[in-house]
Amino acid sequence: MQAEAQFEEQERLAALDRYDILDTPQEEVFDRITRLTRRIFDMPMSTITLIDGHRQWFKARSGVDACETPRGPALCDVARHAPRALVVPDTTADDRFARNPFVVGAPHIRFYAGAPLRTPQGHSIGTLCTMDTRPRPFPDDAVASLTDLAKIVMSELELRRIAMTDSLTGALSRGAFRAECERTLDLALRHRHALSCIMMDLDHFKAINDLHGHPVGDRVLSEVAESCRRGLRVSDAFGRVGGEEFAVLLPHTDLAAAMIVADKLRASVVQLQVPTAPGTLRVSASFGVAALDASVNGLDALLGHADAALYTAKTGGRNRCAAWTPTAAPLPSQPLRRRVLKAGQITFNGGRSVLDCTVRGLSETGAGLRIVSTAGVPETFKLAIGADQVSRLCRIVLRSEGQLEVEFV
Ligand code: GH3
Ligand code: MG
Ligand code: MG
Repeated sequence: MQAEAQFEEQERLAALDRYDILDTPQEEVFDRITRLTRRIFDMPMSTITLIDGHRQWFKARSGVDACETPRGPALCDVARHAPRALVVPDTTADDRFARNPFVVGAPHIRFYAGAPLRTPQGHSIGTLCTMDTRPRPFPDDAVASLTDLAKIVMSELELRRIAMTDSLTGALSRGAFRAECERTLDLALRHRHALSCIMMDLDHFKAINDLHGHPVGDRVLSEVAESCRRGLRVSDAFGRVGGEEFAVLLPHTDLAAAMIVADKLRASVVQLQVPTAPGTLRVSASFGVAALDASVNGLDALLGHADAALYTAKTGGRNRCAAWTPTAAPLPSQPLRRRVLKAGQITFNGGRSVLDCTVRGLSETGAGLRIVSTAGVPETFKLAIGADQVSRLCRIVLRSEGQLEVEFV
């Protein structure tokens, strides 16, 4: 293969990989399309074919027994290059396919029509195809219908991909990250593999937004994410778990190795120079690292440990990494404030004044609240957190711009 073609193929496979679809179970959404394709065109066979490096793999198949076949003779690998669709009315009359093993042998393809599955970036990752064991015509309106059906397959794939990734940073969305973590944790527990988690939170990020505006803040977030991704392995899961909070799950990595990775990420973040109109911006981040050990019974425990270590890194001065240790657990006199994101309501004035707030930190003894304006909020008020069905009387201990620290009384 020539260098250019090789590069293109590499890019195409990377595009296919982003859909995370190969070797996944059969699914009704896709089965429905191959069933429909067969019925519309009155054909015995239809497949949704994805062209992997070495094989064609069928996400859905109707009237076809094999779930994959070698790539070499795959008609779909030819069809995926077609601008709209490849139609071969009689394979035995076509020099390209007359001696093809799938034509001379099972499943004895005599007729073939395949429409490419093309990504928005133009990579052709496979086809929606239909086949018959006898030759037949395929009019223009049939080509148009097959092309439309292929586009439906592609939009299903694309929607799923978008739902998994955060659009600003390209990191996994919170939900997708958790799903990925559950799978990986399950495997690590079963096979007794090492597994670590890094939590990362940008330092004083609110000040960047306040000083330079939200769009600059967004650019910083996207560049930070990009620089972190460059420092990670493809097998690591990288997710955006909060506004300016990211998490990494590192399979087959123990605490010491994960600390090295975290410090590498920390160094790459402080070295980052983000050009802005007023000048170059620099940022830093704090990291908490935890590994799977006997005290971890589930995902929340692992993430909680990393979060607690992050808290240590923050209180220790920021721009640093801290590892979770059982002794690093907070003292009862300094209860750990869980970082949360919950809707709350502040009520005062005998219930006549109600203000919406966001609860960002929560402990047994108090909470951290975000509010549009703290003006007019009295020293004591009632805080209700709907999701938890709790209501507590609070006293303000710290009041700053848009922010309240309260203790429960
Ligand atoms: P700390 O060092 O304690 O983490 O301080 P901080 O200012 O980073 O922390 P804080 O949690 O007080 O503020 C986080 C800020 O992140 C506040 C919020 O406006 C900003 N933020 C969250 N999501 C986004 C986003 O998508 N874009 C931008 N530009 N800012 C965001
Ligand atoms: Mg934060
Ligand atoms: Mg922060």
